[in-house]
Amino acid sequence: MKPLRIDIITIFPEMVEPYLNGSILGRAQKARLLKVAVHQLRTWTHDRHQSVDDRPFGGGPGMVMKIAPFHEALVTLGVRKQNGSKTAAAKKTRVILMSAKGTQFTQAEARRLLKYNRLVFLCGRYEGVDERVASHLADEEMSIGPYVLTGGELPALVMADAIVRLRPGVLGKEASLLVESHTEEGILEYPQYTRPEVYAVKKGKAWRVPKILMSGNHKKIEEWRKTKSGSA
Ligand code: SAH
Repeated sequence: MKPLRIDIITIFPEMVEPYLNGSILGRAQKARLLKVAVHQLRTWTHDRHQSVDDRPFGGGPGMVMKIAPFHEALVTLGVRKQNGSKTAAAKKTRVILMSAKGTQFTQAEARRLLKYNRLVFLCGRYEGVDERVASHLADEEMSIGPYVLTGGELPALVMADAIVRLRPGVLGKEASLLVESHTEEGILEYPQYTRPEVYAVKKGKAWRVPKILMSGNHKKIEEWRKTKSGSA
């Protein structure tokens, strides 16, 4: 299987890089299951101040991110033509604009996006991004939840993380994907415990692991887990 390629376009590459290089995502890169490139949006500016934002037409507070740097970035990455249309190479690519007003990202959306071999995340800042990025350049607009953050960097990391861990081979044991929260719509995982069996918090008071889990009776344990699986 070809490695999944992820591009993140941001004015804060230094915020996102460490997360991508740690733990499971870092290991996936070393194992060539994942290829990540984080790009400084200011690379695609031409003025002395490398400005990526400007005042909103029609007035109002704050600044809006300009379309040109995003457009040039996508052209450089080879996924959009100068006229804004898709290149042939962009066929199995999804360009995703991070946006508080986008489609809500869910586990089902993570599975849907697995079919692409390249994901390009565009991170907004300030009051948001010139609407023409959404209407003419991005394939979709996605939100990670009904709240407003200061930028699209955390949302891009959240999405990348959830999608990458679903790729075959990324998690040590594939089985760990089968029985976890949200695998089936709205079903949450049963409670899990590890040693010690008895956790003493003060004299005469301890928090115990449910006895059934210590019984060795796998059928009973399975039944118990079913009753303890929650619904979202
Ligand atoms: N004025 C905008 C919010 C801008 S927040 C509005 O009212 O919708 C600045 C940037 O942070 C956005 O452009 C987007 O890229 C990112 N962002 C903020 N909240 C987000 C969320 N819940 N999901 C995804 N991206 C978000």
